[in-house]
Amino acid sequence: MKIEIIKCLQDNFSYLIIDEKTQIACVVDPSEAKPIINFLNNKKINLKYILNTHHHYDHVGGNRELKKKYNSNVIGFKGDRNRIPEIDILLEDNQIWKKDNFEAKIYHIPGHTTGHIAFHFFKEKKIFTGDTLFSLGCGRLFEGTYEQMFNSLKKIKQLPKDTEIYCGHEYTLQNSNFCIANDPENLKLKEKIGKIKNNLKKNLPTIPTILEDELECNIFLKANDLKTFSKLRDLKDNF
Ligand code: ZN
Ligand code: FE
Repeated sequence: MKIEIIKCLQDNFSYLIIDEKTQIACVVDPSEAKPIINFLNNKKINLKYILNTHHHYDHVGGNRELKKKYNSNVIGFKGDRNRIPEIDILLEDNQIWKKDNFEAKIYHIPGHTTGHIAFHFFKEKKIFTGDTLFSLGCGRLFEGTYEQMFNSLKKIKQLPKDTEIYCGHEYTLQNSNFCIANDPENLKLKEKIGKIKNNLKKNLPTIPTILEDELECNIFLKANDLKTFSKLRDLKDNF
């Protein structure tokens, strides 16, 4: 299973998950169709599945065009059936979604939106976290409560430490400024910031990140109680 990172819009990431044996692919959160079509152009890849973590425009904007062009199935949370464009397959919390050689566990992780989910390809130890967990940050609370977001992050924290995290945006550098301001003695974080800057200098994404790094460096994951987490979330909104 190969992951191609496709930059979309200003700072969004869409991901192609390609099964190299069958040349069947999924796209995660296509913000727009064009960059995906450009990538697939002249390749013999069959884009069978469109996976959406949540209904925001910058995550589903390419659904309609891609579905029309490739005859793909759109897959998302059942609670968002009325707001994910062109949805075909409805998922539930804790369900295993299995098609062709793809197998992912679905986690309902509300907070950023009420219907947000993550796709965990547990055999490959890769999770697609949309706008819930970012590298060194977490999503804003647009619809959910502090408690929902705290519990959603807790679910992700319990995965194997070597899990690779693929999130919805390149926010890592901005996020790192907030982390270091609140955790100035964290050596591991300083080291990670060096790597982040190096990647960005070379125009490379800072994604994927590894859960182990996030547990040590992401101030939102380091918050062990709801009160601390909520305070940090408020501070970040005004940072
Ligand atoms: Zn969003
Ligand atoms: Fe987003």
